[in-house]
Parts: sequence; structure tokens; C-alpha cells
Amino acid sequence: MLRFASLGSGSKGNGTLIESGKTRILLDCGFTLGETERRLHRLGCPPQSLTAILVTHEHSDHAAGVGRLSRRYNLPVWLTVGTHHSMRDTQFASAHFINVHQELDVHDLHITPFPVPHDAREPCQFVFSDGNRRLGILTDVGSHTPLIIQMLQRLDALMLECNYDANMLANGPYPPSLKARVAGRYGHLDNKQSTYLLEQIDLGGLQHLIGMHLSENNNLPEYAHQALCNGAGCEQGWIQLANQRDGIGWCEVC
Ligand SMILES: [Zn+2]
Ligand SMILES: [Zn+2]
Repeated sequence: MLRFASLGSGSKGNGTLIESGKTRILLDCGFTLGETERRLHRLGCPPQSLTAILVTHEHSDHAAGVGRLSRRYNLPVWLTVGTHHSMRDTQFASAHFINVHQELDVHDLHITPFPVPHDAREPCQFVFSDGNRRLGILTDVGSHTPLIIQMLQRLDALMLECNYDANMLANGPYPPSLKARVAGRYGHLDNKQSTYLLEQIDLGGLQHLIGMHLSENNNLPEYAHQALCNGAGCEQGWIQLANQRDGIGWCEVC
């Protein structure tokens, strides 16, 4: 069985747990060591029980806590060469390099990475499988590509970025340069882009749809909820949002 949970999601820190059998992977770690430990324990997951850390890209909300967690608990880190080159702290217990065009296995989890347009050196996102069910994760992406749409077809669970509402961003507090960065082709997905992406993929077997990486300044949970419902053609109550403080609890993919 495949299951997943979020330690928290947003521009102040990200971390996602993916588990199959005895294999338990932490995807990204943007929290301090103490905060990571606290959030892992909240999910009933002692840090010693982790198998490995995977990193999507070097931005601090995804990578700031990776080095310390890896050293403290002797955890191997999987990442692209570009991400490794761009991280400040690369004193890992061990580093293993991901080729974004090549699938890999970490114990019981089969992992398919894919490159995404985002303003980092070599960012990627992932589909995880236990050999039976598939979970797709897509955040920190400025625009969709044919490969992204292909990768997200016929998933059993999807964690999808709904970063901002275009009107709130345009009229919000960010300086013009940051507004341009967020809304650019290498920035983040807005609610409408997430709706569009969902409309392009076959959601027939989807058991879980989770909204991720919501901006606390430029979005509202009700807007993100509505965007996902519109794209998936489903009831609002069926969708969950992972927020910065609480993330989401374990979701089982049967
Ligand atoms: Zn991010
Ligand atoms: Zn990023």
C-alpha cells in the first residue's frame, strides 16, 4: 500500500512523506531541524524511521533543512547534479544523483522524476509508485509542458500546486519584480493554471486530490478549493488543501 502526508506546504517550508512497506521517503525539507522533528513526530514518524531524503530543487523552502537532517540521522539524499551544485549545505551523509529522464528505485518505491520549468538550476518533480498505485506531485512550476501533462495521466493521487490568485497577486503587496517572477513561465502555478492542467489529464482513477503550496499573501483557500473542483469536476468536500502550519495527515491510496 502507498500512503502520503504533508509536514507543511508553502513558501515558508515544505516536506512530504511518501511510504510503501518499510520504505519512507521525505520529499524536500524546508524546515529547521527541530521543526522537522516536531512535524515528523506529529505524523507518528520518528526521524530514525526515514529511508532517504529526495530534493526537488535548491530553493530554501525545499532545501534549507536537508543537510542537517541528513547528518543528524545518517540519511542518504537523492537530488539532481544541478540542485547539488546550487545548495549551500551539501554535507550529506551520502549524495545520490538523479537523472531527470531515468526512473529509479529506492527500496520499495519506484520513482519517476521529470524536469519542470521553474527558476532553479535543475528542478524536477516526481511520480511515486509501489508497483500498483501512483502518486504524482507537482509544485514550483511556472507553466505546463507536454511532458508534465503526460506524467500526470491516470494517477491514483495528485498533490498539485495552487500558488496564487492572479488578481490578488497583481493588486497585492509584492514589489513588481517579485510579482513578475511568481507569475512568469518559471514561477508558480496560479489557480487558473491548475484548473487547466486538471482539465488536460485523465482523472478517472483519482482517489485523492490535494492543493499544495498556497501563497499566504496572494491566495485564499476557498479560491484554491474552487479551482481544483472546477478542474476535476468534483465536489468541494472531496478535495484537501495542505497548508503551511498543519500540512495534511496520512492519506492512503488503496
Ligand atoms: Zn517552493
Ligand atoms: Zn521553488
